[in-house]
Amino acid sequence: MKSMSDFFPMKSPPESVSLFAEFIPLASEMVPLSMARGRVLAEEIVSGEALPPFSRSTMDGYAVRAADTYGCSGLEEALVTVIGEIAMGTSSQALCLQPGQAARIATGGELPAMADAVVMVEVTRPLDNKTVAVSRPVAPGENIIRAGEDYAPGAVVLRRGSRLRPQEMGVLSGLGVVSVPVHRRPRVAILSTGDELVPAEQTPPPGKIRDINSTTLAALVEEAGGIAIAHGICGDDFENMLAVCTEALVEADVLLLSGGSSRGRRDFTHQVFSAIPHAQMLTHGVSVRPGKPTILARQGNKSLFGLPGPAASAMVIFYCFVRPLLRYYSGLGATLGLSSIRATTAQPFPSAIGREEYVRVQLSPQDGGAPPLATAVYGKSGLLSPLVRADGLLPIGCEIEGFGRGVEVSVLLFP
Ligand code: AMP
Ligand code: MG
Repeated sequence: MKSMSDFFPMKSPPESVSLFAEFIPLASEMVPLSMARGRVLAEEIVSGEALPPFSRSTMDGYAVRAADTYGCSGLEEALVTVIGEIAMGTSSQALCLQPGQAARIATGGELPAMADAVVMVEVTRPLDNKTVAVSRPVAPGENIIRAGEDYAPGAVVLRRGSRLRPQEMGVLSGLGVVSVPVHRRPRVAILSTGDELVPAEQTPPPGKIRDINSTTLAALVEEAGGIAIAHGICGDDFENMLAVCTEALVEADVLLLSGGSSRGRRDFTHQVFSAIPHAQMLTHGVSVRPGKPTILARQGNKSLFGLPGPAASAMVIFYCFVRPLLRYYSGLGATLGLSSIRATTAQPFPSAIGREEYVRVQLSPQDGGAPPLATAVYGKSGLLSPLVRADGLLPIGCEIEGFGRGVEVSVLLFP
């Protein structure tokens, strides 16, 4: 039976059976920069030009030759001759400072030739309309950003596998890179199965319940950067399930089928996955609680998940297995990608050896900068209210018997 560590190369080979090694990241596509937030670069970006393209002032004041200000003070001001003003958005290269000369400049203006610093207006005093007294010296490079100081031409600006945040997008627009090669977003087909399910917008007749997993899983997929494709509900019917799954896999990279993943009489997921053309079963059952009856299969580079029906189980398995694989497909590497926080257990957390357990926990802040207290929100895996109350998951490794009270632990936060 597989546990999380089988999916991540944490153990040293040959023990580690990295199932994700069977898959490869999705191909790259060019997208307009404005659409690229959160996407992952499929190629490195090399700067074709200097950023900034010319040396710029970071202050309102006077561009000078720094040496002309050496030794000056409030008592002994340096006098410079103002030979012009650099209007914003115009080139200053027609101006060239001779010793003793300065030019009026605004923040962001282009430094004239031979200027190597800017004195800020606050330490100057106009004497007449041509002469300014400077009361504090500047060093070469002071109050300026040099041409190429951010990125020189030919510099590696962003590496492959970088996720584009607003700041990376800003750099790219500064360099005129307006379309970027990124990994394709995984397309994830979502199908709920069970004779008892009706769509959320319907009033269930006696004996039926509304479909919850389609909504939860689509939101989890979108949050993880995937594209959710809804395939609705399918009854516990082998032929129908096989037809819908086969059809869904034409365009999807990932199939999330929830319900019917156990070994019961009316559980068809395993049979269906086994019957899908060219599909290969990778595992049936994971040593994770909740979520044991999980199925993973592949069809080429496409992955097929049979998720357990109960909401909490489906969600835990999503975070443990589906999310890392979606990230891997997207070029990020097979990581959980969840932030974690140090917390102190507010109670004992017993756990059986041999199962990796994920306990839903609520965090409450403590005074004096101490880590928050983690309290278990236990509840049957079919209940939704514990998930709504929880802030994250406390993983308990399969080789330990849980935690005592007052122990420092690491809690994975829901994104
Ligand atoms: P199964 O995995 O099919 O044995 O289902 C286990 C439990 O989860 C049953 O109580 C199902 O009714 C419930 N369940 C399965 N799929 C869904 C779903 N899409 N929405 C809400 N509950 C579900
Ligand atoms: Mg079922």
